[in-house]
Amino acid sequence: MKKNLTTEEFIKILYIICDDIEKNKDYFSELDRATGDGDHGVTMSIGWTAVKEKLDTLSSDLTFDKICMQVASSFLSAVGASAGPLYATALMRGGAKLKDLKSSNALQIADFFEAAANGIKERGKAELGDKTMLDVWIPAAETIKKTSIGQEDIIEILKQGALKAKQAMESTKDMLSKKGRSSKLGERSRGHIDPGAASSAMIINTFFEAIENLDNI
Ligand SMILES: [Mg+2]
Repeated sequence: MKKNLTTEEFIKILYIICDDIEKNKDYFSELDRATGDGDHGVTMSIGWTAVKEKLDTLSSDLTFDKICMQVASSFLSAVGASAGPLYATALMRGGAKLKDLKSSNALQIADFFEAAANGIKERGKAELGDKTMLDVWIPAAETIKKTSIGQEDIIEILKQGALKAKQAMESTKDMLSKKGRSSKLGERSRGHIDPGAASSAMIINTFFEAIENLDNI
């Protein structure tokens, strides 16, 4: 049972996400080669490497919103197009829900994910079913939100969110791409998991696993 997440723990989680992105970058690029230009792993690696470098410099007394703001601007400076603005918006919108806080509860974490997902939706102008990262973020955030009602355990709400994210990622396989380069493939875009959906599901799952194992890191 974990009722509160501190900024110190949040930073540890972000470091672990950076490392997991790096470990999986070839897989993300491989997925992108099937329907796009094959750069998703490299793009994510560049963005999250910039995040990691920023984390090294952060002062330990920052609140969630300040951490998110700093990390978002680093991501955006490193990755100006595609995933850059989307992740920057997600982090800033999510962080704004935790304004001035150094500790957050399950309801607040759920608000963080909801705002992040909605930020991606607005910034990317995609709809559900367009075969994008949104197809993971929206259902996962909704599940986290739903689970947080009457559930104080942050581990449990993220566990449900991560399970939903995996399922949602798999569901992009059957979708027809309506956004970006892969949309030009038409019917041939079916049969492949969307790379952005895959990296998003990984991030949410890593968030869950990291928080579950915080005592050991
Ligand atoms: Mg690409």
